[in-house]
Amino acid sequence: MLGAPGTLGAQAPIVPQAERLAEDLFVLRIPNEANVVAQTSSAGVLLVDGGSAQSVGALTGILSRLPGGGEVHTLFNTHWHPEQVGSNELVGKAGKPIIAQENTRLWLTTDVTWPWNGRRFTRLPKVAQPNRTFYTTATLESGVKYGYIPDAAHTDGDMYVLFPQQNVLVVGDVLSGQGWPVVDWPTGGWIGGIVGALQRLQTLANEETRIVPGRGRVLRLADLKAQTEMYGTIYDRLTQLMNRGRGPTEAVEARPTKEFDEQMGNGDEFVRRAFESLWAYLSPDA
Ligand SMILES: [Zn+2]
Repeated sequence: MLGAPGTLGAQAPIVPQAERLAEDLFVLRIPNEANVVAQTSSAGVLLVDGGSAQSVGALTGILSRLPGGGEVHTLFNTHWHPEQVGSNELVGKAGKPIIAQENTRLWLTTDVTWPWNGRRFTRLPKVAQPNRTFYTTATLESGVKYGYIPDAAHTDGDMYVLFPQQNVLVVGDVLSGQGWPVVDWPTGGWIGGIVGALQRLQTLANEETRIVPGRGRVLRLADLKAQTEMYGTIYDRLTQLMNRGRGPTEAVEARPTKEFDEQMGNGDEFVRRAFESLWAYLSPDA
C-alpha cells in the first residue's frame, strides 16, 4: 500500500460486478456479499435479494448503469437474512412490492439471536418488511414464477424465483456455489431440509438451467445433483452419530465431510450447526 497515502485504513470502495445471464437478466456480485439477481425492463428493475444495508449505495449505482436499468419496481427476499434485505427500506418507502414467503416476513418482525456466536439481528421497521407475502406458489404478470421451498433447508421461509423464458432459477442460500452454508436452525433450517430442498429444486431445472445460488458461481443441474448426494451422505452420517448418542463435538471429530472439504472448505463449523439442527428438528419440545 506504499505510494497510496491517504488510503491506508480507509474503507475500500465497494465495486460490484455484473454477470449477464440473458438479454435482460444479470447476477450482481458485491464483494463478500450474497448474489443479487436483476431483471431489467421498461418498467424498471426486478431484484431477487437486495444486498446488505451497507451495500445499498453500490447496488443502486450498478443498477443505474445496467443496460435498461433503472429504479426497482419489485423486490424478492429469498429469506430473512441481512444480506438479502438491505434494500427493503428503500423499496418499501417507494411504495413498491417486497415479495417474500410469509415466514420470512414474520422473522423480520422480531429480533433473532444466533446462540452459537451471540449475533443479534434486529427486526426491520414496518416500511421495510415484506408487504406482499405468499404461502405456496405464484406467478407475476411478466411470467416470472416463484414459490416456497417448504423443506426448511436454510430457514423456514426459503423461496425460489424462476425465470422460465431465460431458464434461470434463483434459489438463495438453500444452495451454495462457494463454501459450506450456514444452517440457521434457530429460524428453522436443518440438514435434512437441505437434502429435501435440493431434491425438490431438481424438478424445476433441466440440463440447460442456470441456477443462481446465494453465494458463488452460477451452477447447473449436475452440480445440484452432486450436492444433493453430498448432503445426503453427510445427513446419514450425522444421523448415525446422533443415534449412537454422540454430541456436536464428537460429530466434528468424526469428520463426516472429509472427502468434500477440499472442494467446499473446512467443514467443522457446518458440521456443528448441522448436528445441532438435527437436535433442534427432532427434539419433540422444539
Ligand atoms: Zn442466508
